Amino acid sequence: MNLRTKVWIFILLITVFFSCETAPTEKRTESRTQSGTERKKQSISVSKDTEVAVEYDYNTDDWEEISFADDSILLDLRYAQTNNFVKKKLYNCPRCFLRPDIAGKLNSVNNDLMKKGYKLKVYDCYRPKPVQEELWKIMPDEDYVAAPWKGSMHNRGIAVDLTIADKNNKELDMGTPFDFFGEEAHFTYTDFPPQVLVNRQLLKSTMEKYGFQSIRTEWWHYSVSTRSYPISEWQWQCN
Ligand SMILES: [Zn+2]
Repeated sequence: MNLRTKVWIFILLITVFFSCETAPTEKRTESRTQSGTERKKQSISVSKDTEVAVEYDYNTDDWEEISFADDSILLDLRYAQTNNFVKKKLYNCPRCFLRPDIAGKLNSVNNDLMKKGYKLKVYDCYRPKPVQEELWKIMPDEDYVAAPWKGSMHNRGIAVDLTIADKNNKELDMGTPFDFFGEEAHFTYTDFPPQVLVNRQLLKSTMEKYGFQSIRTEWWHYSVSTRSYPISEWQWQCN
C-alpha cells in the first residue's frame, strides 16, 4: 500500500468517525507560494474541526517523489553516495523524483513484481541539469555521460536506472554492477549463466509491459518518451 493510499484511508476513517456527530463538509484547497522553491499544500477538511494537511516541498504538477508514490520501492541512489563511477557525491540527499505519469508507471511495474515476490531497487531518477554539468566536468566523454547542452532523459525526469531485489532486499544477479561500462552490460551479451539472462528478461519484460523502453547498452536504464518534457534545472530540497 503506498503512502497516498494510507493517507486516504486515514482520512476516510476520520470522516466516518465525525459523520456520527456532525455532517461532514469536504473541501480541498491548494495554494502555492514562491520562496526559493515551489511549495504546494493540499489541505483536506473532513469536518469544521478536523483538517488533514499534506504538504509537499516540490511542485506536484511537475514532479512526483517515488517514496510517496510507492514506499515499497527500494532506493539506493548512487549519486547521493560516493559509490558511483566518478566516486563523488553529486546529490546532497537521496530523493528520487520522476514526472508524475512516469512515477505512476513505475508504481505499476513494482506492483506487478511484488505479486511474484520481488520489488524494484532504484539507482537514479531525475537528475537536475546542474548535476549533469558537474558530471560532465568530471567525465567529459559522451561514451559515458550525456553532454549537458544536449541533456539526457534523466535531466527531463523521464528515465530511471534500476534493478530487481528479492523479498530479502537482495539484488538479483544481472551479470554486471550498475554503471558498468563494457559490453557485458549490453543486452546483446549473453555469455552468462542462464539465471542472469532470466533476471534481465524479467526486468525488461515487466518494464516494457508498462510502457518503458530499454537501451541496448545499459541493462539498468529505462525511459518513457511518449510525451516530451523539457530539461530541468530544478533541484530538490534537503532537510
Ligand atoms: Zn540511466
